[in-house]
Amino acid sequence: MTSLLVHTCCGPCASGCFEHWRQEGFQVTSFWYNPNIHPYTEHQKRLHTLQDFFRKKDTPLVVAEGYDVVGYFRAVVGHEEDRCRHCFRLRLSATASAARERGFEAFTTTLLISPYQDQELLKEIGDEIAQRVGLRFISEDMRPCYGDSRRISQELDLYRQKYCGCIYSEWERFRQKKR
Ligand code: SF4
Repeated sequence: MTSLLVHTCCGPCASGCFEHWRQEGFQVTSFWYNPNIHPYTEHQKRLHTLQDFFRKKDTPLVVAEGYDVVGYFRAVVGHEEDRCRHCFRLRLSATASAARERGFEAFTTTLLISPYQDQELLKEIGDEIAQRVGLRFISEDMRPCYGDSRRISQELDLYRQKYCGCIYSEWERFRQKKR
């Protein structure tokens, strides 16, 4: 059984992914590191939703210490047009480091379930980091499970956020709505 550390962005995405990877024979542990979620109260709301979900599912969860919002802005400021690349690299690098420190064989991310994220970019960055650290990156397209995540999170009444995470995405989302 391959041990897999899963960067986890939120409860709803986790609800559609973890059972699938278990059925594929992975021994899964979740990893929370999302300093891209703003403001802090929203970060905590998403984290608490995930913690409640995993408590019911008896799934191990590792939470990175602190709230590295300064690290996030240092990574993206000056690259706003291409910020998702830097955001993905920040979060997947932290996941890969944690996976190496803790002796996991592979890592991946629940972002691969989202039809709103750039799958090719996620794969490119995940593979690049995997090569650097000497671990496997599981880059399976999880979008076919997106419907499950919506159904499960509605059934369990999980909090579903209305924007990706950063303050830029919040502005884009609600600016568009207003228009
Ligand atoms: S839109 Fe989402 S993935 Fe892109 S930088 Fe913002 S939080 Fe990160």
